Amino acid sequence: MKTPTQTNAIDFDSAKLQRLGFGQQSPLLQRPVSLAQLRQQLSLQLQTSLEPQRILGLFFRETQRLVPLDALVYQHKPSDLRLEFGQRGHHSISYSLSHEGETMGELVFRRNQRFSDQEQGHLESLLSALLYPMRNALLYRAATRSALRDPLTDTGNRIAMDQTLQREIEMARRHLHPLSLLMLDIDHFKRINDSHGHSAGDEVLKAVAAAIKAQLRNVDMVFRFGGEEFLILLSNTGRDAAAMVGERLRQAAQAKDYWADGTLIELTVSLGCSTLLPGESAESLLRRADSALYVAKREGRNRLAMAG
Ligand code: GH3
Ligand code: MG
Ligand code: MG
Repeated sequence: MKTPTQTNAIDFDSAKLQRLGFGQQSPLLQRPVSLAQLRQQLSLQLQTSLEPQRILGLFFRETQRLVPLDALVYQHKPSDLRLEFGQRGHHSISYSLSHEGETMGELVFRRNQRFSDQEQGHLESLLSALLYPMRNALLYRAATRSALRDPLTDTGNRIAMDQTLQREIEMARRHLHPLSLLMLDIDHFKRINDSHGHSAGDEVLKAVAAAIKAQLRNVDMVFRFGGEEFLILLSNTGRDAAAMVGERLRQAAQAKDYWADGTLIELTVSLGCSTLLPGESAESLLRRADSALYVAKREGRNRLAMAG
């Protein structure tokens, strides 16, 4: 049996914030400050995180020491990010943030009471403290995201797949939810490369990925498994429902028009489906989907086969 040990880990994030005079107390308990003081404190404090959620949360909370707010909404379309803090208000002021020509999102301050000119000036001045921390957070987010994505098809890569599959298996076990996998492989893809060239093949590959994603609610669950193979994770989905999704993907892939070298080409896909068994490992679940895919190929392609 393990004996409990005392942990001596220091959370530098909160330790640093505490030292700067920003503890966990509510903004109502904090004394108001001058604009100059707040700007200085904010610029130190916002450097302590690379998470957009945390940076904006701190900004929302601390700004209220000078300018009362009801809500803050932030949106950065290029990185698919939208964050909301507080409750909606009738009046709003919006700002488009940009730095050296690069867009860094839209920020909307909301309140039930009108904003005075002085308050607006304060907000604009405080926004300058947000600029560099937000730029760093966006760069960091882009870097971590790209490390997990396949650039050609904009689906998850193998690293993302391994992480997500492990997590989904744990979740399925804990909550006793079903979990299914679809392994999808393009039929006779080599012929497309051979007749139209590799870059035409790449375009077709992209189009197939788009056709798959268009059919799914959760596009984060599509991964490029190999050259022209994709893996789709269906959480909380049992065998019958997974078979329906698989069939829908097969039809969608076939129905789409694919162009290579200016000619319309016919394309089909084959799929194998497996559903997690009690106590089954990720490797075994993948192996069974792969074996089912092999059966679908052997039985003539353009079909879905279910693992036994
Ligand atoms: P099957 O129906 O049995 O799946 O036949 P297939 O031709 O699709 O299968 P095979 O595994 O023999 O060939 C897959 C081909 O996919 C071989 C490879 O050149 C091509 N391929 C793999 N990755 C890429 C890629 O990123 N771009 C392009 N253009 N082709 C790729
Ligand atoms: Mg193939
Ligand atoms: Mg293949």
